[in-house]
Amino acid sequence: MNTENFEIKAYPEMWESLNMDVERFDKMRLMLGEIYGKTYLTQKNRPNSMAYFDNMIAEIHGGRIQELLNAKKEGKPVVGTFCVYIPEEIVLAAGGVCVGLCGGSQGSVPDAEKILPRNICPMVKSAFGFKAGRICPYFQAVDFVYGETTCDAKKKTWEILNQMVPTYVMEIPQTKKPSAVDMWLSEVKDFKTKVESIAGSEVTLDKLEEAVKVMNNKRKALQRLNNLRHADPTPISGKDVLLIEQIAFYDEPVRFVAKVNSLCDELEQRIADGVTVQDSSAARIMVAGVPMALPNWKLHNLVEGAGGVIVNEESCIGTRYYKDLMKENTGDMESILKELTRRYMQIDCSCFTPNDERIDQVLKEYKESGAHGLIHYSLQFCHTYNVEEVKIRKACEKQGIPYMFIESDYSPEDVGQIQTRVEAFLEQISE
Ligand code: SF4
Ligand code: SF4
Repeated sequence: MNTENFEIKAYPEMWESLNMDVERFDKMRLMLGEIYGKTYLTQKNRPNSMAYFDNMIAEIHGGRIQELLNAKKEGKPVVGTFCVYIPEEIVLAAGGVCVGLCGGSQGSVPDAEKILPRNICPMVKSAFGFKAGRICPYFQAVDFVYGETTCDAKKKTWEILNQMVPTYVMEIPQTKKPSAVDMWLSEVKDFKTKVESIAGSEVTLDKLEEAVKVMNNKRKALQRLNNLRHADPTPISGKDVLLIEQIAFYDEPVRFVAKVNSLCDELEQRIADGVTVQDSSAARIMVAGVPMALPNWKLHNLVEGAGGVIVNEESCIGTRYYKDLMKENTGDMESILKELTRRYMQIDCSCFTPNDERIDQVLKEYKESGAHGLIHYSLQFCHTYNVEEVKIRKACEKQGIPYMFIESDYSPEDVGQIQTRVEAFLEQISE
């Protein structure tokens, strides 16, 4: 595929049936296709296996939506998600589908700002705006949305979102004390009951164990990909890995695993043959911080456009999603739910206090990735990541790690300024 023949396919009849603002959405489709072409298809020497992921983008508003609608027709629950704390295994065990809802576009922010305050995180505004403006087929297709109480902007937004689409809120504690573990377990059990009520059937131990295997396989495939990109020189661009990490949130998991593993086979061959996407002097950058939801490719595009390469994302759309596996054979329902809770509690989101595990994890990933410098990326008004940045910066200073902090939103206004800073940072690293 190249920029000339790429397009995101249009499905106006389907969108009409989903009560979307079709005219406006179609314009957004064309814009997204153009941005994708310029950002992705102009890259040189991409692995051939990226064709599948290009096609996932081409079909993002049609083919995958049709699969969700088919699942719904069969009575399977389709759950929209925003956060990596959703116990996906439970939805899968009920035969259902989890889809990550987009929250990475400036296009939907004005819709949100008609209702919500302007001075909250752009990810929350972007996601909410997609529903308020009826410009996301995923939002229109879901049975319910899973929200969580990880941050204030989100938990208060769910109350308003619930007036537009059923929004189920799971309480996520903000510490990891024993009492918090008990509370989390009881929230997991409540979520299971909710999913069973939509599915009309019980989530049995066998089904849950099967779902755990599917999710472990998905996480292992993503871990394998991340390990391979750490090769020096790297066989794949950071932009391409970010894209796969984003698609992980809406593709069918078994098919996705097969495609990621085929890509990994190709990358192993590229490493053996010395095929690379960068010249050997390129600065290797690790990014840490808030998730970059589709279609937020801003920072990766700037770093790689300036001659650097991104070799790791310590983020929810990144390692925080796949670093932890679960025990597969636990023996009974109570034990498997406890193990599920244990696994999800290892995610080191900045909403927790204290959260020193994350500082250690960032340093560990930095070392493993062979990076030459670290960029902490945060979104405006994300208080927890912005404050935690102080500790990350100090830890990097202590270790002598070249470091830069970027706080941004989705508007193009700060692109010039960030570009100048990124270029200076890459130069500093190369000296
Ligand atoms: S940063 Fe925290 S709140 Fe946001 S998606 Fe990740 S775990 Fe959820
Ligand atoms: S980036 Fe921060 S403020 Fe935004 S949704 Fe995530 S935790 Fe909340």
